[in-house]
Amino acid sequence: MRCLTCKDERVIWTKDKWGSPTAVPCPQCNKNGKTVREEMNLLEREAEGE
Ligand SMILES: [Zn+2]
Repeated sequence: MRCLTCKDERVIWTKDKWGSPTAVPCPQCNKNGKTVREEMNLLEREAEGE
C-alpha cells in the first residue's frame, strides 16, 4: 500500500511544543492503533540484533 501521508514510513515526523522531533503513528496507516505499534516493536527488536 502506498501511503501519501507518511510515504510508507508508517510514522510521520512532527515537532512537540519544545521543538523536538517526534514520530507519531501515521493516521492513515494506523487507524486502529495496531499496525504501527507492531511494526515499531519489530524494528526495535531488529535494532537490538536479536
Ligand atoms: Zn501512512
